[in-house]
Amino acid sequence: MSKSKDIRDHCLDCAGGSPKEVTLCQVIACTLWPHRFGCSYKSKRFRERMESARARYPGEYADIVKLVRDHLETCPNSPEYAAIHDILEGHLS
Ligand code: SF4
Repeated sequence: MSKSKDIRDHCLDCAGGSPKEVTLCQVIACTLWPHRFGCSYKSKRFRERMESARARYPGEYADIVKLVRDHLETCPNSPEYAAIHDILEGHLS
């Protein structure tokens, strides 16, 4: 089994088997959070999944954007979260 699939399966299990709950997971401090879809946060799949979340669940999406922004204020030297923040904000423009 691949590491990506292991992560995806673990997150699905953590979220009670709900892909929606994995997408909208707000435990951004979890080490698996940037990888919870079983792919890189730089991937097209990550972007498409978050873009879909923005369209379908704008309130929860805004909460996630705020959490990532707050995280960056606490940990400004986090290129991974800075990149994710740019991706999420890009969907808002
Ligand atoms: S990122 Fe962490 S908290 Fe969120 S679903 Fe995955 S394992 Fe659970």
